[in-house]
Amino acid sequence: MVYPTVLSKHSDVIHIVKDQNNTFCGYRFNTFAALTRNDLKSIKFATVDKINCTTCKSLMYPT
Ligand SMILES: [Zn+2]
Repeated sequence: MVYPTVLSKHSDVIHIVKDQNNTFCGYRFNTFAALTRNDLKSIKFATVDKINCTTCKSLMYPT
């Protein structure tokens, strides 16, 4: 299973994208009103083992 992910700008944390502005843990990766070409480029499709945000993962896979 592959998810749209985004890398934090100031850390190595990889989050799962929830919508065009936010990740599941509430990290806001799109600070502009409209999605720019650069924002789209920052979204990468990755398997779950690449995702290292524990909050995003726990929301995706509640225990
Ligand atoms: Zn996250």
